[in-house]
Amino acid sequence: MTTMLRISELRLPLDHPIEALTEIIAKRLGIPASDIENFTVFKRSYDARKNVHLSLIYIVDVEVKHEATLLGKFKGDQQIKPSPDMVYHFVGKAPPHFHQRPVVIGFGPCGIFAALILAQAGFRPIVLERGKSVRERTQDTWGLWRKNTLNPESNVQFGEGGAGTFSDGKLYSQIKDPKHYGRKVLTEFVKAGAPEEILYVSKPHIGTFRLVGMVESIRAEIESLGGEIRFQQRVTDILIEDGQMRGVRTATGDEIRTNHVVLAVGHSARDTFQLLYDKGVYMEAKPFSIGFRIEHPQSLIDKARLGPHAGHPELGAADYKLVHHASNGRAVYSFCMCPGGTVVAATSEPNRVVTNGMSQYSRNERNANAGIVVSIDPKDYPGGPLAGIELQRALESHAFMLGGGNYEAPGQLVGDFLKGKPSTQLGTVEPSYKPGVRLCDLSTALPDYAIAAIREAVPAFDRQIRGFNMYDAVLTGVETRTSSPLRVTRNEQLQSLNVKGLFPAGEGAGYAGGILSAGVDGIRVAEAVTTSLLSQG
Ligand SMILES: Cc1cc2nc3c(=O)[nH]c(=O)nc-3n(C[C@H](O)[C@H](O)[C@H](O)COP(=O)(O)OP(=O)(O)OC[C@H]3O[C@@H](n4cnc5c(N)ncnc54)[C@H](O)[C@@H]3O)c2cc1C
Repeated sequence: MTTMLRISELRLPLDHPIEALTEIIAKRLGIPASDIENFTVFKRSYDARKNVHLSLIYIVDVEVKHEATLLGKFKGDQQIKPSPDMVYHFVGKAPPHFHQRPVVIGFGPCGIFAALILAQAGFRPIVLERGKSVRERTQDTWGLWRKNTLNPESNVQFGEGGAGTFSDGKLYSQIKDPKHYGRKVLTEFVKAGAPEEILYVSKPHIGTFRLVGMVESIRAEIESLGGEIRFQQRVTDILIEDGQMRGVRTATGDEIRTNHVVLAVGHSARDTFQLLYDKGVYMEAKPFSIGFRIEHPQSLIDKARLGPHAGHPELGAADYKLVHHASNGRAVYSFCMCPGGTVVAATSEPNRVVTNGMSQYSRNERNANAGIVVSIDPKDYPGGPLAGIELQRALESHAFMLGGGNYEAPGQLVGDFLKGKPSTQLGTVEPSYKPGVRLCDLSTALPDYAIAAIREAVPAFDRQIRGFNMYDAVLTGVETRTSSPLRVTRNEQLQSLNVKGLFPAGEGAGYAGGILSAGVDGIRVAEAVTTSLLSQG
């Protein structure tokens, strides 16, 4: 059997010739290049903290002659080890003619991967998605951005592909992933049409345009394996008997009997959380964050982050990640940074305004945007599991009013915000939010502690990214859907604490915070469903 070697920390200059990688591998292993049978790049990153002498850092998997000898030679070397097995192994498969079919509620990244794994394992899942198929949904989403018209069932949050469809498609996460489920997610994305580089660049992203086609392709695979995806099927009731899931009912009156339900509804399914609460499903309030979006010229970020290498095609548009601990005890941090992207209207409820960010694969729009958000926790919204939703709603309604009541977002120049003076005129930065931005005073848009913390953080961020507190940079608001304000708590079998057969999953249930982690959680939950189904026969 061939053992691959994984070598990390191979550093090469930014503009190195292609053969330099083979040479450095041979040098590191102390072997002639002719002993290298094959190699693949597992990860490629760069360290932007040293932007003058910026180098590319590689991790490679290498097939060489005499692996066993080399493994012995480098025993104990943390940078040269056997490559781990990253192939996905199913925990079980459905026996022939297995009749039980699990139901998955929601077809965002979590529901997609739960359904895909269940379908690949032979369980023919039935997916119920409240929104429309991704192409129809795109029309409705543009309806809000171009014509100020919201469809509460088909928008940025709801519909095939879930909340991540109109996004930057960033595919990295800091979750612990000892079983390499993230690799399974990325591999399936590549199969569905994502660029192959997402498997090895350190901060992969896909962009909105490609995500649409990929989602359709995964849907086709699930269907080809006997699964079903039913659109415009909002789950409005769950049937529980003696603490056991027995089925679900949809707004169209359909009833599906099943003992296994994956709840992958995302963080914006506020009516569904109310339903679960009313039905007595155990849940608790959890921390989340609130704030604004900030927009700068992308060229300013590139220059600050990449110095003389700004604009280098290998590096693309630069990103940033910032944290500040404010003197009032609040943490302020950048959230969902979108290089070369646009700020988007992300509400799913009428008469509310919510911001978020997206970009295309090319990331070549003029502005960089990111959420600048403040951590809050249930002490800030006492009153039970649904109190965080009420706070979100109050802030989003107030933002709607500040924006003029027609889905424009309230906005302010950073310089004016720091001085506490309303903005009346844009400067050099043109905000990208559609349908538009109404300049105002944002100081009432968030609680006082959050405004104070952001006023302190922005100048502090300027010390890391020169120009961050540029007078003309634009703030728009409000950023409230950063993660779920509640958790539908689950046990070790990944089932609800008090309803057997209900598998809370993904971001809405409080177990993920992005596309990749939601996909990974979908895989985990599909495995828990598989184990439970097979134990019941
Ligand atoms: C504009 C935007 C940009 C983003 N950018 C990124 C990014 O670049 N990278 C990243 O990692 N993350 C990003 N995110 C966050 C990411 O999209 C989410 O973390 C992820 O989609 C969560 O996946 P999920 O499957 O748990 O939930 P969701 O994606 O929210 O999916 C839930 C699905 O359930 C459906 N649903 C809800 N209630 C019901 C019901 N009662 N019956 C039937 N169906 C129901 C919804 O219609 C929805 O399709 C972005 C989010 C937004 C809004």
